[in-house]
Parts: sequence; C-alpha cells; structure tokens
Amino acid sequence: MGKELKLVEDFDFDMIVDFFGRLNRQGPGSEQTTCQALNLVGKLPQDAKVADLGCGSGGQTLTLATHTDGTIRGMDISPKLIDLFNARMKRHGYDDRVTGIVGSMAELPFEGEELDLIWAEGSIYNIGFRRGLNEWRKFLKTGGAIAVSEVSWLTPTRPEEINHFWHFHYAEIDTIPNKVKQMEDAGYTPQAHFIVPEDCWLDHFYKPMQACVTSFLEQYDYSETARQFAQNQLEEQNYYRKYKKYYGYVFYIGIKNE
Ligand code: SAH
Repeated sequence: MGKELKLVEDFDFDMIVDFFGRLNRQGPGSEQTTCQALNLVGKLPQDAKVADLGCGSGGQTLTLATHTDGTIRGMDISPKLIDLFNARMKRHGYDDRVTGIVGSMAELPFEGEELDLIWAEGSIYNIGFRRGLNEWRKFLKTGGAIAVSEVSWLTPTRPEEINHFWHFHYAEIDTIPNKVKQMEDAGYTPQAHFIVPEDCWLDHFYKPMQACVTSFLEQYDYSETARQFAQNQLEEQNYYRKYKKYYGYVFYIGIKNE
C-alpha cells in the first residue's frame, strides 16, 4: 500500500479546532439534511429535552432550535467550539433554551431516561457507533429517539485502496444493513435511514473549507505542520471525489424500545 494518509486526529487538537472553528459546520451536512432527519424523528413534545452530542460550533443545533420547542443541550469536548456555540445561540436569540456545555460523550452528565432526543451529527465515531448507541440509551425515555450520522459503506464491495484507508482510520465502518442491525441490537427500532447527499460534502463542507485555507496558513506563517494539515484536508477531499460511490455519511434514526 502507498503512503498512509494522515487523518485529522493525528494533528494537534488546538490546530484542528482552530481550522474547523472557522467553518459553520465541522462535518458534512446541511440545513436540509438536518430537517429531513428531524422530520423522520416525528413530533416531539412541547417541553422536549434534546441533547446534541459532539455539537461543534452548532451548525445543526441552529436548525434543531428553529424546528423544535423545549430545551437543547449541546455538548462538545472542545471549549473553544462551545464558546463559539454559545455566542452563536445568543446571536440568534436561542440562548434562553439552548446551552452549550464542555464535556465528553463518554461520560454524559444527564439523568437516566431524561431525554426525548439524542442527536449526534458526524460525531458518534469519536466513541464508536455501537458503543455510543449502547451507552447513551439509558438517558433516553422509552419511545425517545436517537438520530446519528455515521460514515458507512454504500456498496457490498469496494476497491482495495479505499477499503484499506477506512479500515485503518475507522475500523467500525460497515455497510448500511449491518449498521441498521447494530442499531436494532442496541435496543432501538430502526425508524429510518438515508444517505447524506453529495452536496453536504462538496458544497457545504469542502467548499467552505477551501475558502479558509489561506487565512489559516497565514495565521500559522505557513509552518510545515499547518501546510501538512491543509494538504491532508485536500487529499481527504480527493479521496471522497474519487470514491464517493462507495462510502458516505448515512443518517440513522432509531426509537428506544421498552
Ligand atoms: N456535529 C457537528 C460537529 C461534527 S465534528 C457538525 O456536524 O458540524 C465532531 C465533533 O465532535 C467535534 O466538534 C469534536 O470536538 C467533537 N468531539 C470529539 N471527541 C468528543 C468527545 N469525546 N466528546 C464530545 N465531543 C467530542
């Protein structure tokens, strides 16, 4: 196999946050896709309690806040992203019912069976799909919903280069039927799933990323690490363009069983 492509986690966390904090979203997604997933969750109570795990600077949270009543707690491990999140919610007038907290999705601070909805857009991979589904379940009310987007194989087979890349970087990547089965095994009724469309990657994620590369490099005086970081983002994009037939993000929506 050729040279290993470094993924974002291999770089200094401050640099990663500094780069991605410049974007409205830190992963592939769009307002339309968030709405689509929320519609598939179904009607939430007026006083719904929602947790948005790995919320980043709150791109999807704004959409959730617009289309739900009740309270939302966004959680992220990065204090800087949570600062951006809280400032953003304030700017949009949601700070009375949307709060960002710094914390780890591996140790949720919620009460048992307290939540109506757990949201994790492009973030459950940090703890792993199966682990997240299993560990977070106890915080949901029976009949409550979970909505997560997760990188998945879109075809039963694929070229070795991309197979190797993903198995190296996220060994839990799997086909859609297997992910749905894992959701079922974790105690949820799989309510729906859909493939996150290409524009969420190309127009809503990679394009804005391209636009902030120059200012990022300038800030780091074109240091070797910063250039390598930017170069890696570009290579990752090229992988997506080359292999998007075979992998993508998929939204999975499940309802907690008895
Ligand atoms: N949901 C956002 C961000 C996705 S990027 C969006 O779609 O725009 C993944 C996020 O997970 C990052 O903001 C990262 O800081 C956060 N994260 C990584 N590890 C985490 C952990 N252990 N607990 C909580 N958040 C974590």
